[in-house]
Amino acid sequence: LAERLEDAWKKLRGQNKISQSNIQDALQEVRRALLEADVNLQVVKTFVAEVEQKALGAEVISGVNPGQQFIKIVYDELVKVMGESNVPLAQADKPPTVILMAGLQGTGKTTATAKLALYLRKQNQTCLMVATDVYRPAAIDQLITLGQQIDVPVFEMGSDADPVEIARAGVEKAKEMGVDTVLIDTAGRLQIDRDMMAELARIKATVNPHDTLLVVDAMTGQEAANLTRTFQEQIGITGAILTKLDGDTRGGAALSVRQVSGQPIKFVGVGEKVEALQPFYPDRMASRILNMGDVLTLVEKAQEQIDIADVEKMQSKILEAKFDFNDFLKQMRLLKNMGSLGGLLKMIPGFSKLSGADIEKGETELKRTEAMINSMTTEERANPDLLAKSPSRRRRIARGSGYEESDVTKLVSNFTRMRNMMQQMGRGGMPAMPGMPGM
Ligand code: GDP
Ligand code: MG
Repeated sequence: LAERLEDAWKKLRGQNKISQSNIQDALQEVRRALLEADVNLQVVKTFVAEVEQKALGAEVISGVNPGQQFIKIVYDELVKVMGESNVPLAQADKPPTVILMAGLQGTGKTTATAKLALYLRKQNQTCLMVATDVYRPAAIDQLITLGQQIDVPVFEMGSDADPVEIARAGVEKAKEMGVDTVLIDTAGRLQIDRDMMAELARIKATVNPHDTLLVVDAMTGQEAANLTRTFQEQIGITGAILTKLDGDTRGGAALSVRQVSGQPIKFVGVGEKVEALQPFYPDRMASRILNMGDVLTLVEKAQEQIDIADVEKMQSKILEAKFDFNDFLKQMRLLKNMGSLGGLLKMIPGFSKLSGADIEKGETELKRTEAMINSMTTEERANPDLLAKSPSRRRRIARGSGYEESDVTKLVSNFTRMRNMMQQMGRGGMPAMPGMPGM
């Protein structure tokens, strides 16, 4: 698959612009990749349409070929749809935080309840787990055993009690005990079942959870979308846990769950053990779904190209003498991203004989410079001449950054000199070197 994508992108690479006609093959490959990852068909359609729009509307970045740009758009969109960053568990203003677990039988609810309790306990929170699954023989014992294993108490009322009543009493108990979080494990059925949903809805209405987490087996594949829709409509979820990601599934269910419910996936289960729980990270899942170990490398390469395009923009700024401390700072950060200063300097004629000590000195110098620029006001950064004229401004920056006034004076005069020099170099037809400033 990676090869097919690569082919489609190669074709795009030969083009100089993303267009309606040259993008179709690449879009087809994205569609196929997502379907192979078991993303729901409807979800795939919506996603691909969105990517197409974005790609066609994308500003052409000089120096970045359309293939690279396209990969970046697909990847970024996937990360965006899955929520960009990790969303933590809800937290009540006044403890206990009530977390309700929902989902079909066998998806891993009971296991996930214990995993969460252990996760919270490791963060020095106290928990109580509540066993409301009175239907499956041994379900209560399962939770009790897990509780002993992780040293977290379990509230239960036997298998004759009413689940709604157990949940209510469990939360009461948690208040009494003064625990931070109460986790309510519930019963599931093999399929969506009206009685089960009704009972879950009653439990929810009774305990008013801060988080209602749908536990979804990552192997569910296509069906994950319908399942999520039903739970969202009938119960209302605030997040999900995707289990069994240690299997060979690509995790397309993550995209389906997220897109259908609009709610974040908060954790993933990666094994049968109680420790096998990880916070969900959209970027990692995006590369897993695209099934390309190299996707990240490709994305990084594209980003580098985009950065280089940025440098080119900056060079024209230098020529127009619009280069200021903001650009300078950006330039320095870029330099950091591009790897070691030493490696970069070696490529510049005249600097190739630098020793390790010199380079280290240069790196210290960069840090110093960054600290001083950070202490400048926006106005000062945009207009370095202000600083050349005003000793009091320079004194303030020295105080703010923890350096001497003479250091600031030196930075400003070096900067001005460098700017003039670069302008001259530019006019003389020599390429201005990215990463040169300050050196
Ligand atoms: P419940 O019916 O929803 O409460 O599901 P259980 O918690 O009883 O789990 C059902 C089965 O799935 C058990 O055998 C668990 O060990 C297993 N299981 C749960 N989570 C994971 C996971 O993340 N990875 C793997 N491989 N197995 C899991
Ligand atoms: Mg269970």
